[in-house]
Amino acid sequence: MRTLVRNGRVAAAGRVESADLLLDGGLVSAVGRDLGEAERVIDASGCYVLPGLVDVHVHVGDRIGRFELADGYESGTRVAVKNGVTTLCAFVTQGPGQSLGEALRAARARAAGECHGDVAWHLTPTRFEETDWAEMEGLARAGYRTFKLYTTYRPAGLFSDLGRLESVFRRLGPLGVRFLLHCEDDGLLGSVDASALDLSRASAHARLRPEGAEVAAVEALLALAARHGVPLHVVHVSTVGAAELIRDARARQDVTCETGPQYLWLDETWLDRPDGHRWLCSPPLRGDRERFRQLAREGAFDLFATDHCAFRKSDKDDWDGRDVRTVANGLPGLGGLLHHAWRVFADDPDRAAAEVSLRLAKNPAARLGLEGRKGSLREGLDADVVVLDPNGPERPVRATESDAYEPFPGFTSTLALRHVFVHGEPVVKDGDLVDPAVRRGQLHPNHD
Ligand SMILES: [Zn+2]
Repeated sequence: MRTLVRNGRVAAAGRVESADLLLDGGLVSAVGRDLGEAERVIDASGCYVLPGLVDVHVHVGDRIGRFELADGYESGTRVAVKNGVTTLCAFVTQGPGQSLGEALRAARARAAGECHGDVAWHLTPTRFEETDWAEMEGLARAGYRTFKLYTTYRPAGLFSDLGRLESVFRRLGPLGVRFLLHCEDDGLLGSVDASALDLSRASAHARLRPEGAEVAAVEALLALAARHGVPLHVVHVSTVGAAELIRDARARQDVTCETGPQYLWLDETWLDRPDGHRWLCSPPLRGDRERFRQLAREGAFDLFATDHCAFRKSDKDDWDGRDVRTVANGLPGLGGLLHHAWRVFADDPDRAAAEVSLRLAKNPAARLGLEGRKGSLREGLDADVVVLDPNGPERPVRATESDAYEPFPGFTSTLALRHVFVHGEPVVKDGDLVDPAVRRGQLHPNHD
């Protein structure tokens, strides 16, 4: 069915203009004026018309440590599309005794037929035998172009030293792979004297993972990636120091970075609350955020992503009360991404719409290698479209609809999701699913 979205302010690729939009056969068919007739006509007066948003950093349908996450593919993509995120990128981590391909097939099976919006995956190898390398190269050639690696988390088997990272860059870089790096220097984390801290307090978590560990790891990884000429994406940047290093490196090499709403709008005083353990995430919440938000306004972050990792309330509270290192580590965020990112630029709605079109659509789609299908409103791209009213009724922002603690209590938004289209079909109207039984999401790459 052809759909005409009329009279809106189209915000795409960082620009805003008054225009109509025609969707046909699941794709954007035209942007402009006098686009003819359509079976379905949407009046977008007073609204921004945006490309479907992309969150490149989401944990759903997975176990982390002892716990099954509260959001699976259905509930994760549901809260996502209801808040404008039509594509999310989750993670596949090779488990013990498992090949990376087996882990990937299991994730795809869990997601199949469940998703309200599109899903892609980053791959994390944890074993590096010759058969593993062959499999990684096969997956890269089959279209899995983003690999996620860690400079810490030794006990979980995720840690890679610089030598390991160098071999990964050397073998997979020539196949067009982009590398996502969790940057905290494991040696510096290990040198913190935990015996000097009161580990029963959540604020000890911030002392255990100091800012300097992030800055040091980013510095080392920038140098290593530059030496091998590979594209680097630094996930969840939390410090001014790391953000400035990456900003300055952009002139020299292909590097991008993300930060999340928690590092923009929450600070470490949340950890001082009696229930401060509920705000535990890594990297931890940091001190004064004013300069960090200023960097965001200056464009230091290519994109915003949530690191959505929703633990059930009972699981988040399931720790011994004595050692903060036993707390489930992560916060939900998907449902708040658009609202918290908009707020960074909210003094000027046109600017906010332009920035969102860039940092929540175009840039993340490009980093995933999906720029030929997602991230903008151009003829031939997927018709994932958000019709956003900036002046809706004020309401609370909700990170998730599942049984998890809300990390942004008291935060509200007036952004109303009038319509969300996925592959040219309406999935959300006035903030609710059009038909909860229908699943329009596709899995990427869309072959096995
Ligand atoms: Zn993460």
